[in-house]
Amino acid sequence: MKRKLRRIKIGGFVYTIKWDYVFPDRTDIEGICDNTKNEIRIKRGDGGGTEFSDAHNKKIFWHEMLHAVAFAHRIPEIMLDENNDLVDRIACALLDLFENNPKILEELNGIEK
Ligand SMILES: [Zn+2]
Repeated sequence: MKRKLRRIKIGGFVYTIKWDYVFPDRTDIEGICDNTKNEIRIKRGDGGGTEFSDAHNKKIFWHEMLHAVAFAHRIPEIMLDENNDLVDRIACALLDLFENNPKILEELNGIEK
């Protein structure tokens, strides 16, 4: 799937999203939120030639985005990877919420259809 979202504003920060990122020295991570460079990097696949599913890529994205939100809004409980399971659960819950209720964004943006 071709990704269009390249930048995202979180708090006062603009993060660049790097889809299909290659982590040359790390086989143990699927994504990273680099708050020093304001970058969210998402790995394309498992490193063995298998690409992640679209659903899995979305989950990684939401996970890393939550780390950025936590950094911008000073929520230490989910800022770092110590509570990755909690971050995964919140990421899945929010992804489910937005996927099943696309009109939420229309409502927030005041779009009438
Ligand atoms: Zn994490």
